[in-house]
Amino acid sequence: MSSDQRSFGAPKGTRDLLPPESWRWEALARLAADVFSQAGYAPVETPIFEHTEVFSRGVGETSDVVTKQMYTFPDKGGRSLTLRPENTAPVVRAVLEHNLHRGPLPVKLYYFGPQFRQERPQKGRYRQFFQFGIEALGAPGPAVDAEVVEVGYRFLRAAGIEPVLKLNSIGHLADDCRIGYNRALVDYLRAHEGDLAEEDRGRIDTNPLRTFDSKEDRTVAVMSGAPLITEYLCADCKAHFDGVQELLSAVGVPFELEPRIVRGLDYYTRTAFEYLSGGLGSQNAVGGGGRYDGLASALGGDELPAIGFALGADRILLAADEGALAPGRGVEVYVVALGDEAAGRAFEIVTRLRAAGIGAELDHMGRGMKGQMKDADRSGARWAAIVGPEELAAGEVMLKNLTSGEQTRVSLDDLERRVRS
Ligand code: AMP
Repeated sequence: MSSDQRSFGAPKGTRDLLPPESWRWEALARLAADVFSQAGYAPVETPIFEHTEVFSRGVGETSDVVTKQMYTFPDKGGRSLTLRPENTAPVVRAVLEHNLHRGPLPVKLYYFGPQFRQERPQKGRYRQFFQFGIEALGAPGPAVDAEVVEVGYRFLRAAGIEPVLKLNSIGHLADDCRIGYNRALVDYLRAHEGDLAEEDRGRIDTNPLRTFDSKEDRTVAVMSGAPLITEYLCADCKAHFDGVQELLSAVGVPFELEPRIVRGLDYYTRTAFEYLSGGLGSQNAVGGGGRYDGLASALGGDELPAIGFALGADRILLAADEGALAPGRGVEVYVVALGDEAAGRAFEIVTRLRAAGIGAELDHMGRGMKGQMKDADRSGARWAAIVGPEELAAGEVMLKNLTSGEQTRVSLDDLERRVRS
């Protein structure tokens, strides 16, 4: 390719979704809407960009996402805006702005949309990627945690994935809980500072929990001996965590306890979880979530206990079983026209079928009979309705079942009924 042509390619880390993959994408979006709405979650849309502070405060000043990966730009009025790198902080911002949390609780919402992070692209990792998420705001008890975890698990299974669910609790900000744990962890990291990878040493002061997320071999080795949060949980957090586990067990959702899953920011509390899937190589996390009881107040709002998850649509599609996401019904009838007069009639028939809710297609390229029959096969239609001079005169079509090859003459008035039956 010449450099001229290359300048028209999609930007690095983005991709075009084309048929037939785009059909599976549609099917996945429809499945998500079904599964989430069945559990009482309502759709929400927030802007693609927000004031930068929504993310610096809502994702955290010390997180990699905020420090390294955001697409931040000044607008013409000099305000700093950021393409959303995730959707939880925007949803919480919207809930607070419109006072949804002053109405009946919990507020249960779901979203599906593009997110933007300037990461090094690889299989399953893009700069524009899509997330499905649900958020339940206002309920503090373990039942809503179990609901959120189960809904994500069921959605992934329905999409053709056998997820491995990793579950943890990271406690809450108190001396006898996570603050005490943090101290023990910092002491441990200090004692092993020399063995940590260079870039992880800085985290001891800024965000010690995040050292568990490091991919550096040296750090991973150190972390295998680190103290674990679960040994430091206070009685309330432990009871909450036990409650979540009991409820998940009661509905048959299998999980593995993984005390090394952390969300390294102060407003994340208690339940933290991840869904992993095989077949994705190093990018094997299809989604994750957790409780974020401190986020609403970090954004300047009231105290609002909440929990949610975000699932990566691109990765789900990569990992999903081919058969699980059947495309929706598109074209059912292909109207084949023989001659100019019949072509006009074909357009009328197609329009009538479409208006009646039946998918219908016709030739726009002046193909002959053979070419149109081939196009009918390609369209995925189950029926060909053939209009020649004879059928035209009789007010009929020759209806051919493209699977069995059977054909019969059908009056135009009867066509809809026959196709439906
Ligand atoms: P996170 O918001 O980082 O917890 O991510 C939640 C899920 O979104 C991950 O488990 C991935 O499935 C997906 N995800 C995150 N970042 C990317 C990316 N750059 N490209 C594709 N999927 C991503």
